[in-house]
Amino acid sequence: MFRTNLWCYLWDLVDEGIDDVLDRLKGEAGATGVSVAVNYHSADQLRPHGRVESRRFRSAGGAQFQPNAAHYASTRMRPVPADWLRKGNPLAAVGEACVKRGMSLRGWLVCTHGSVVAGRYPGCAVKDAFGQPSPNWLCPVNLDVREYLRGMIEDLSQNYPFETIELERATFPADLHTHFHDKMGVDFGLAGDWLRGLCLCESCRQGCFRDGLDAARIVALVEGYLDRVLTGDEPIGQRIEELVDAEPLLEDFAAWRCGQITSLIKLLKTSCRSRLVMHRSGDRFWSAADFAAIAPHCDALLPIFYDTDLEVLNRLVQAAVEDTGSAERVELGLSACTPPCSGPDLLVAAVKRAVELGVRSVNIYNYGLIPLSRLEWVHQATRYARREAG
Ligand SMILES: [Zn+2]
Repeated sequence: MFRTNLWCYLWDLVDEGIDDVLDRLKGEAGATGVSVAVNYHSADQLRPHGRVESRRFRSAGGAQFQPNAAHYASTRMRPVPADWLRKGNPLAAVGEACVKRGMSLRGWLVCTHGSVVAGRYPGCAVKDAFGQPSPNWLCPVNLDVREYLRGMIEDLSQNYPFETIELERATFPADLHTHFHDKMGVDFGLAGDWLRGLCLCESCRQGCFRDGLDAARIVALVEGYLDRVLTGDEPIGQRIEELVDAEPLLEDFAAWRCGQITSLIKLLKTSCRSRLVMHRSGDRFWSAADFAAIAPHCDALLPIFYDTDLEVLNRLVQAAVEDTGSAERVELGLSACTPPCSGPDLLVAAVKRAVELGVRSVNIYNYGLIPLSRLEWVHQATRYARREAG
């Protein structure tokens, strides 16, 4: 059976009425499930539905549920519940309402990115070559971070009726994205940006040392490149691939980082009672995500197509099929937001192409960001897929 899940924010479900929203998604959009953000970064959302008190929803982010302390005994970290929840825990009611309707509940977990948690635990944050902890990225090598994520997956998958947990950014940062205004007057070049994005925190240094890499030389090498840019005012002209070819130690470090992410996903899978699906975004240098190595440790990979060119969709799905070995283990993320979507045609064509490629489950972004009239676009796409895919 073809599955259509709408990505949703919990606050939209709560403010518009959990039963009303689920009925609408099932009836008007033909959705078979919802994927609800359960741990999230900051957001400043324009709400088009007008069924809510304010057109704007602002949140510094955090956990969208009340953590059960029993699951976090082996870490100094705890999920930080988002302010707007106060003492409530509406995720439980969403779970019940999904079960009642036969809709699948999916949890969408942003793992290492978020300013509330990184601010609370600066000792667990990514730390760059200048020794500065990131205000909004956690280091996925840090043992407290790994246990915090493992505990969160155990907590969610044991205490709520999740059919699937989706991992977003269970990796190193995919770029230099920050919640602050970046103030910079120097061009480091693409490889230089990668170097200054690398985590060189104590956990990463100790992990390298444990695994036989010369951590002190790696740090000195990165510092040397960055110092030369700052004093010589010349960006690093090489591409990242060329730089690591010229510096085998950096190639070893990049490979080590990938191994760390793969072992993290393997660890998370052991504590997950539901299906575990990983968003297929990021690469082996920045995110340190080697999806072919990760694929055996999750139930599916979910590439995200936020584009208008269906050739891009082909490439995304084919790459994920190569990683997993089967289209049955590939799901696809699509967007009904503008951009990229400005009418139903693109959404229908994208779902049609996905079905042709063997994909049987799509997620659509995002209930609380789209005018209600677009639920009919989703319905058109879904009707086609059901007919074709059965
Ligand atoms: Zn680190």
